[in-house]
Amino acid sequence: MLEQIVFISISIIWILALCLILLSYKKKYNLTMANQQSSTGFFQRLRNLLVVGIFQSRILNKPLSGFSHALVFWGFLVISIASIEIIIDGVFGSELSFSELGGFYYAISYSVDIMSYIVIIACSVFLVRRLINSPKRFQAYYIGIKEKFDAIFCLLMIVFLCSSLIYVNIYHSQLYDYYPVSGLFSFDIQYYHYKIIWWAHILGLFLFALYLPFSKHFHVYLSLFNVFSDSTNSYAYYPSLKSIRAYVRQSLGFETEIQSEDVMPERFGVFDVSDISKKNYLDSLSCTQCGRCSQVCPAVRTGKKLSPRKIFIDVRYRMNEYYKNKDSENTLVDNYITSEEIWACTTCNACSEVCPVNIRHANLIMNMRRNYVMDRAEIGSDINLFMRNMETKQCPWDMSPEQRLSWFK
Ligand code: SF4
Ligand code: SF4
Repeated sequence: MLEQIVFISISIIWILALCLILLSYKKKYNLTMANQQSSTGFFQRLRNLLVVGIFQSRILNKPLSGFSHALVFWGFLVISIASIEIIIDGVFGSELSFSELGGFYYAISYSVDIMSYIVIIACSVFLVRRLINSPKRFQAYYIGIKEKFDAIFCLLMIVFLCSSLIYVNIYHSQLYDYYPVSGLFSFDIQYYHYKIIWWAHILGLFLFALYLPFSKHFHVYLSLFNVFSDSTNSYAYYPSLKSIRAYVRQSLGFETEIQSEDVMPERFGVFDVSDISKKNYLDSLSCTQCGRCSQVCPAVRTGKKLSPRKIFIDVRYRMNEYYKNKDSENTLVDNYITSEEIWACTTCNACSEVCPVNIRHANLIMNMRRNYVMDRAEIGSDINLFMRNMETKQCPWDMSPEQRLSWFK
């Protein structure tokens, strides 16, 4: 009974702490603007959720790392069932409460037991790879020691949680036949050893769940939600500003009435995090920092300063700063993301095509450009040169129009 009271007390504190953390994110989310994307039907979103979210279609093109990551994800989903069972057991002082499900419980416990070993093997490979031969896509000037530590810490925690779960399974396998792999181990485990590891598992799980929102692994909570919330199937979706459409039509001589909802915005495009859409912010929280986008980005490959991954890391960091101090003189554009980065994008959308969590990079970048053009009347130096050449020489390059085809002779 005492153990139960302690467990329930810790659980209540944990739930309150988790609610407070998630509430702070909700407040940050509320600081952003409404999405301007057109709405895709529910079934299309559901399809995205199943294909991209659950079946991990975007990462399976890399047979080793992609499939291993998918295994960890699928394992995580299955092992979550065991974690829920452990929490219910703790609250009610029961043991294997889901075994009431009868034959179905065999399917659950067999999967949990097998997946625990698979996840340990996959995470150990990821750990060794990160420590000994870190892939190039994990390295960038903006990925500091904090991000590297975060990745290694999370992998170690997953290994610890799966190992402790296996220990608990081995103990139970002395009494029940629900564990095909753990049941093969024949050593006896004392009850108090089992209890120590059981508590270590549950406390580790609670602490890890509280740590995740502060880590890049927040995507564990949000990635499926982000995929489902993606309301456009077009990578290149750059909506015009509805509010000023009537003014533009009028200035072009069309007969249009300005409606009461057509209010001229205070600012065009994105200058700071208060201008980004809710989807942009959700994107920044869901980013796994896997680097697949930067790996395929032509701007990165040709040595430009832009990195699509960094854009969303910056959004997240700037929102944290803005949330704490709205009067800070810093802004997303200029202090975090420079003009050089914004104008280096070719809007090819290769980044969005490979992103495993349906992040729309170019949509945000184009909105930052909109701010440059419409609020500051500035454009990138390359485009400026292009315009000047077109105006003065009727040729995009700095040469006479007669010479512009001479390069292929
Ligand atoms: S934006 Fe997408 S592809 Fe790029 S690092 Fe984040 S999750 Fe990976
Ligand atoms: S859309 Fe822009 S950021 Fe994305 S891959 Fe193309 S150039 Fe890079």
